[in-house]
Amino acid sequence: MKDLYDCVVIGGGPGGCTTAALLAEARCSTLLIEREKVPRFHVGESLMPETYWVFERLGVLEKMKQSSFIKKLSVAFVSHSGAESNPFFFKEHDPRECSQTWQVERGEFDKMLFDNAAEKGADCVDETRVLDVLFEGDRAVGVKLQLADGSSSEVGCKVVVDATGQQALLANRLGLKVDYPDLQKVAIWGYYHNARRDPGEHGGATIIMHTSGKKSWFWYIPLREDITSIGVVGERDYLVQGRGAPEEIFEDELVKCPALVDRLMNAELTSEFRVAKEFSYKTTKRAGDGWVLVGDAWGFIDPIYSSGVYFALKSGEHAADAIVAGLRMGDTSAAQLGGWLDDFHGGTKLIRKLVDAYYTNEFSFGRFMKAHPEHRGKLTDLLIGRIFHDDAGKIFDDMEPALAEAKQAALESRL
Ligand SMILES: Cc1cc2nc3c(=O)[nH]c(=O)nc-3n(C[C@H](O)[C@H](O)[C@H](O)COP(=O)(O)OP(=O)(O)OC[C@H]3O[C@@H](n4cnc5c(N)ncnc54)[C@H](O)[C@@H]3O)c2cc1C
Repeated sequence: MKDLYDCVVIGGGPGGCTTAALLAEARCSTLLIEREKVPRFHVGESLMPETYWVFERLGVLEKMKQSSFIKKLSVAFVSHSGAESNPFFFKEHDPRECSQTWQVERGEFDKMLFDNAAEKGADCVDETRVLDVLFEGDRAVGVKLQLADGSSSEVGCKVVVDATGQQALLANRLGLKVDYPDLQKVAIWGYYHNARRDPGEHGGATIIMHTSGKKSWFWYIPLREDITSIGVVGERDYLVQGRGAPEEIFEDELVKCPALVDRLMNAELTSEFRVAKEFSYKTTKRAGDGWVLVGDAWGFIDPIYSSGVYFALKSGEHAADAIVAGLRMGDTSAAQLGGWLDDFHGGTKLIRKLVDAYYTNEFSFGRFMKAHPEHRGKLTDLLIGRIFHDDAGKIFDDMEPALAEAKQAALESRL
């Protein structure tokens, strides 16, 4: 580790590793710092197909193709009444190779990205914590570190990338974090062996299952070695307030989801239950002089559409390009480092709208698709992650009025 770098990237998740790899490839001197020992456990196993292009750019696509990660070719939804949607096969909409993706154990996946950044020339250090970002006036100029042996040191740089995930180091320090009041969710999840898989190509699908009453939903993510990641998500006030231990809550919700009970008939729990909360938030400022936010440090919407890793990879890519151009021009201002943010935010807003639709109990995707079969391809596009083009939001021309109607009907029924 040197005393001075062009760029210090904090956090060795998908966002930080992508930024660091692309910076190093462009010959910017780069330090990537991860506080945990790599590999480390992380939630977030289901990828979106559009990650394909970032993998290609990072040079890890072949590794992904050669890997034994489970192939994800489709997603499906089970309604609160137990009705199962036809699978959304990504390749039915677009037959190219990029219409498939993977279900990944994050320890191994993130390590591959961490190693890739190192192979491209970044100094990658784990078991080292960034205690603080150093500022001169409003400009970030370096970081204060706590090394593996407990000692501390300082490293200077021209740009700091905060990719600390939900720790959101800079957003917390600068008071930039704002919760979504309508997304006060909690997730409880564990790992099962021998859960029933759907036959054929749909066997690797992520399945999202509403419980009866729609107060919670389960994810079902098939992993290797016949392990399945299964989690329940619900409003905090409903899911955990005044209820028992995580395993009791999980069991209570499970009985409200016959489609999952059926899939778990012969399955065995192989882990403890883990809990995540307060994970949905946005940030009011995403770049400043000498700093920029990437991935969850920038914000996180909701786990339902498996968009988190994709957003981390994509924002990492954009941030790296902006930094490389800025360093070449000698301009590391907020405007330069964050020039990509408005367009990026525009795309992520489409997923935010889709999340809103899912959580509007009176709105039915099934009914909407029956009324508008012409939108099936557009919906698949959103599920693939194709959200960063002009027509990506076309479906909402019809969905937003339907959603508003559903909300109005709900309001009236409560009067
Ligand atoms: C319940 C739940 C389920 C989810 N399911 C999915 C899913 O199926 N698919 C999907 O795509 N996404 C999912 N996500 C989201 C996904 O986990 C994140 O969006 C993704 O991991 C973000 O990547 P990142 O690189 O921004 O941050 P992270 O992957 O969190 O990486 C940040 C890294 O920074 C390190 N760090 C933090 N602070 C410091 C510090 N001070 N110094 C040094 N290092 C530090 C951390 O140790 C960590 O390794 C889910 C999220 C939740 C909450």
